[in-house]
Amino acid sequence: MNPQLIRGLCYIVASGFFIFGLKMLSSPRTARRGNIISAIGMLIAIATTLTALTDIKWVWLLAGAGIGSVVGALAARLVKMTSMPEMVGLFNGFGGLASLLVGWSEFHFNWAGTDPLSLFTTVAIFLTVLIGGVTFTGSLVAFGKLAGMITGKPVLYKGQNIANAAILAAIVAVGIFFCVLRPDQPDAGGSALVYSLLILAIIQAFTLGVLSTIPIGGADMPVVICLLNSYSGLAACAAGFAIGNNVLIVSGSLVGASGLILTRIMCKAMNRSLANVLFSGFGAATTAQGEGYQGEAKPVSAQDAYLMLEAATSVVFVPGYGMAAAQAQHGVRELGELLEQNGAEIKYCIHPVAGRMPGHMNVLLAEANVPYELLVEPQDVNPTIETVDVAVVIGANDVVNPAAKEDQNSPLWGMPIIEVDRARTCIVLKRSLNPGFAGVDNPLFFKDNTRMLFGDAKASIGALVSEFKQ
Ligand code: NAP
Repeated sequence: MNPQLIRGLCYIVASGFFIFGLKMLSSPRTARRGNIISAIGMLIAIATTLTALTDIKWVWLLAGAGIGSVVGALAARLVKMTSMPEMVGLFNGFGGLASLLVGWSEFHFNWAGTDPLSLFTTVAIFLTVLIGGVTFTGSLVAFGKLAGMITGKPVLYKGQNIANAAILAAIVAVGIFFCVLRPDQPDAGGSALVYSLLILAIIQAFTLGVLSTIPIGGADMPVVICLLNSYSGLAACAAGFAIGNNVLIVSGSLVGASGLILTRIMCKAMNRSLANVLFSGFGAATTAQGEGYQGEAKPVSAQDAYLMLEAATSVVFVPGYGMAAAQAQHGVRELGELLEQNGAEIKYCIHPVAGRMPGHMNVLLAEANVPYELLVEPQDVNPTIETVDVAVVIGANDVVNPAAKEDQNSPLWGMPIIEVDRARTCIVLKRSLNPGFAGVDNPLFFKDNTRMLFGDAKASIGALVSEFKQ
């Protein structure tokens, strides 16, 4: 059988594995298997590609694979769950850089050689370095903001959008010249000008990546990381067209499309448009805080909170970033089990942007063996939340902030929240009255039916568990 045909079939099999793997990632129940299936697809794709190469430099290949494996293994062990978004941001960036290098090498090794470059390939090379470059530096900025290395506040200056548009226009101009002047004859000898244009395009892409990400506030970084994830897929897809590799085109498109879908879900969860996230400078010093709500918070002791929970027949847990920071998820599961044994109906309501990365709370609660069927979404709980006896908010803040529906001046106005303020009683576990990630004050703390159980979430949950056990 024709080896090329066999390779084509193997690529189709690998693509099937990618698609099924991705589908399985949509439920926590099947996500682990989905990950393994996608990895097998990648193994098939890599092995198939290697069979197409005649002169493989194994030393380089094995050295690269070895270094990558060590870094991956260390990252999996050393990076804390709360730092996952930064890591995902970095991975996106390196994905973009890898595509950029593929595009650059396709040009570098052909432009002065015997292979003329078709217009199609040249456009694909240009798009690869452009999207790859923007993804790389944009992701580095996103990483720096989330890791606290650079300010999480939007960096704004006058005429910013115009400056970015001017750079984009310059990139398009360079791209047109690059494609028109490409060496399209065998042994055309290339021209230093064309090569310089490619290098210029790379520098412009790097600049655009930085300038388009710094005006976005830290609170919007999850959305930006989803978008950059999508870009990294598009860069890989363009690289696939540049080097004529079908499986790269398919996998790049899958990443590009899924990243875009996730971006849309995140924007919808915050009731914001993508344009608003990218260009509004949300979270700048002038917009945060809301009204500075007045009132008296009512602290409770763990013992009093226990009495409320002990009498409850329905309890909804609302986890947030504080649960992750305190690593309280195991205690939460234990408390949930005790409440169930006590006859209460338990649910865990998870907001799509709770925590610091998409699916953050789902991952933590799954790790603590909370049954998947108890995990519900805001739209499953909100319509009947006034029948809930106690809503227990564990280190969540922005996602339960009623200012989103009560205060038109609040930066959170319009964001769908979990409406714990309408439950019969709401117990909030956190250390202080400080605001959450968005820096917006929360009137929930001063509502008549709210009680504050101050302290580290793990310690507070532990105290409640002890009360039950006694
Ligand atoms: P949040 O609004 O950031 O609030 C978390 C709260 O946890 C804080 O107010 C803090 O209050 C408390 N906390 C921190 N450590 C704690 C501890 N050890 N024990 C008890 N409480 C602790 O969290 P959220 O309600 O989950 O909302 C998520 C926010 O992050 C949204 O604004 C979202 O847009 C943004 N974001 C989301 C993602 C994502 O992908 N999910 C990524 C990045 C950003 P104290 O200091 O008073 O304890």
